Amino acid sequence: MGFQSSIISAMEYSISGDARLTLDLALTLRHDGQGGVTDDLATPTGLTTWVEAHADTLPAATGLTADATTLAAVTDLRAAVRALFAQAVRPGEPSPADAARLLPVPEALERLNATAALTPTVPVLLWAPAADPVVRHESATGGEPLTAVLARAAIAFLASPDRQRLRACHAPRCVRYFLKEHPRQEWCKPSCGNRARVARHHERHKQPTLQPSAR
Ligand SMILES: [Zn+2]
Repeated sequence: MGFQSSIISAMEYSISGDARLTLDLALTLRHDGQGGVTDDLATPTGLTTWVEAHADTLPAATGLTADATTLAAVTDLRAAVRALFAQAVRPGEPSPADAARLLPVPEALERLNATAALTPTVPVLLWAPAADPVVRHESATGGEPLTAVLARAAIAFLASPDRQRLRACHAPRCVRYFLKEHPRQEWCKPSCGNRARVARHHERHKQPTLQPSAR
């Protein structure tokens, strides 16, 4: 207890599986390295690759070969998730990647809930040795659509205290959402902090040269 342990717990923010999966889904819309935005889920092949890379958190989707219908369902769900991320980071600004075309929140909620409702679920208690028990909601009928699994993870994350650590990074050119790993974290990663500091430095040193011509 006390000061020391509160510092340690603050430095040891962990990230739940639901938070990681939801964040990873949102981050498929990302900076392209040249000032624009690229989409890892632009094609069914892109979705198949993304699911393969998440085999540990999406065991039900193992071996999925995505088609256009699955892709559309997942990107529709992602739009709902990103709209709710934008809501979660308020009063901060949302990621600039899609700030101008966000779904209205009621529509995003309706879409997310409808997607999660595609499969009836049952609560399952998991209790690994030396860990806290966790409840996981699993399909009551066996197979279930990928989108239902993703929607359930998003609901669990957005309703959890983890949501309060969600931020959009506003370093130059960055469009990422991230979970703060310590209370004063402002940027998604150190390289973004460096770019932001360089940009501020240039901003400060630009002012004096502008003033004489303004006379
Ligand atoms: Zn960043």
